[in-house]
Amino acid sequence: MKAIKEERTLVLVKPDGVMRGLSGEVISRIEQRGLKVIAMKMVAIDRKHLEKHFPSDPEWVKGLGKKTMKTFDEYNIKALDHYESDDHAHIGAKVKESLFEYMSSGPIVAMVVEGIHSIDMVRKIAGDTLPVFAPIGSVRGDYSVDSPAVANVEGRAIKNIMHASETPEEAKNEIDLWFKKDEIHDYKRAGEDVAY
Ligand code: ADP
Ligand code: MG
Repeated sequence: MKAIKEERTLVLVKPDGVMRGLSGEVISRIEQRGLKVIAMKMVAIDRKHLEKHFPSDPEWVKGLGKKTMKTFDEYNIKALDHYESDDHAHIGAKVKESLFEYMSSGPIVAMVVEGIHSIDMVRKIAGDTLPVFAPIGSVRGDYSVDSPAVANVEGRAIKNIMHASETPEEAKNEIDLWFKKDEIHDYKRAGEDVAY
């Protein structure tokens, strides 16, 4: 049971979240759920760091392009009015570039969160990637309004306040990238023995 109780995930309050004064809101929703923040810092990150944060796999980049084309189709937007080519890899690379710009547009509050099913729990706290589908009660559902149809036409990433790792593998890679071992702390939260 120790492995489940001590599952770790990386959480970022992205630059729009920090600039809107929502860092405390994100932290407080994580703490109120019963999860434990075991590392935290505010950082401005460079391109080299971001290249390691986002997958470099060409299939992942193509996937970004494919998602964007799907949005364009849904809203009757012509890709060629906004991009030089409608090739998935080309559009994906442009969207990835806009992600770099977004994530380096201001400081980020980074944290490692530990607790029972922390990866899935924090994804629930964040809500769907696209604000329109994020349920009320989630951070994105309560505080964000951006749309891929608007963002992709304007050539920028969707502003959605926070990041949370999606899988155990992603969590491990991201925690190793963002935090040194001695920046991660071990302590007992009051109430742990009562809550589970
Ligand atoms: P999540 O952040 O929910 O894990 P992804 O890993 O798929 O979502 O995407 C990473 C980030 O890239 C999103 O949080 C969002 O800011 C941005 N993003 C995702 N898809 C698009 C898109 N089609 N157009 C613009 N930005 C996007
Ligand atoms: Mg993701």
